[in-house]
Amino acid sequence: MLLVVAVAVAAAIWYVGISPPAEDRFLSSGVEKMKNDETDKNFNELTPEEKAIIVDKGTELSFTGKYDKHKETGTYICKRCDAKLFESSDKYQSGCGWPSFDDAIEGTVKRLPDPDGRRTEILCANCDGHLGHVFTGEEHTPKNTRYCVNSLSLNFIKPQQTENKQKAYFAGGCFWGVEHFFQKADGVISTQVGYMGGHKADPTYEEVCTGKTGHAETMEVIYNPAKTDFETLTKLFFEIHDPEQVNRQGPDVGTQYRSVVFYADNSEKEIAAKLIETLKQKGYKVATKIAKADKFYPAEDNHQQYYEKKKTLPYCHAYKKRF
Ligand SMILES: [Zn+2]
Repeated sequence: MLLVVAVAVAAAIWYVGISPPAEDRFLSSGVEKMKNDETDKNFNELTPEEKAIIVDKGTELSFTGKYDKHKETGTYICKRCDAKLFESSDKYQSGCGWPSFDDAIEGTVKRLPDPDGRRTEILCANCDGHLGHVFTGEEHTPKNTRYCVNSLSLNFIKPQQTENKQKAYFAGGCFWGVEHFFQKADGVISTQVGYMGGHKADPTYEEVCTGKTGHAETMEVIYNPAKTDFETLTKLFFEIHDPEQVNRQGPDVGTQYRSVVFYADNSEKEIAAKLIETLKQKGYKVATKIAKADKFYPAEDNHQQYYEKKKTLPYCHAYKKRF
């Protein structure tokens, strides 16, 4: 019996001793499954290939990943949860066939002993998605560290997209109804209603209702530019209010109910103009104005998420496909 145990221990030691080379050269499935099996509605959907890597801890074939030789300036983010993980400035060509970085963004990458007993697995600290392995002591770069990452675990965003929140402003009648349709749109992080385009600082709802402040009831939308864009949101805007009505929207009449796309820069201005042109070609007599975004004054709390709080539906806005 003792002999059997001794042989088994020896075999185990021998196995660990020669077990997998520093790099997996083949697609392999890990044995350990963690909380990353769990479906979370906030995570991005994964293809079967991505799931095999990120959830089941596989390894993509070397020299096949889209980021292996990728050299653009920007940030690599988690495919599953969008967390920022690696900067392009830390990427280098190790020749191993997988994207290699000699550093990670602080606190974003977690290390765990690999079940193979030899390597160190790396995971997204936010969602526990499998990324690859980390190796040290190879003296490739002064940091002497190689984060060896599967391309399938990553997405890449360019510098102007790294701030993953952007704002846009639309006025299209009663802001309760505009907000109702935007707050559930894809890529929208949050919405807020308020006033813009007038001359009175810190206006109240009652003041704006007089039509004498110059303000339009306006909605601010904060969105994730990796998931939606200004054009998509502006199209939605034209489809949830009637852009042909002048200084009114349904029963609400007055300049405070005028239709406006407020732009932040020339590219937004051009997008708004292009979409209005498209609508005009379709025969719509568009009354919507394009105006430079000005200071936004948030409205009183009782106007925020109005329909959701009241559990009723807008009287003044409805969706109608126009593009
Ligand atoms: Zn993640």
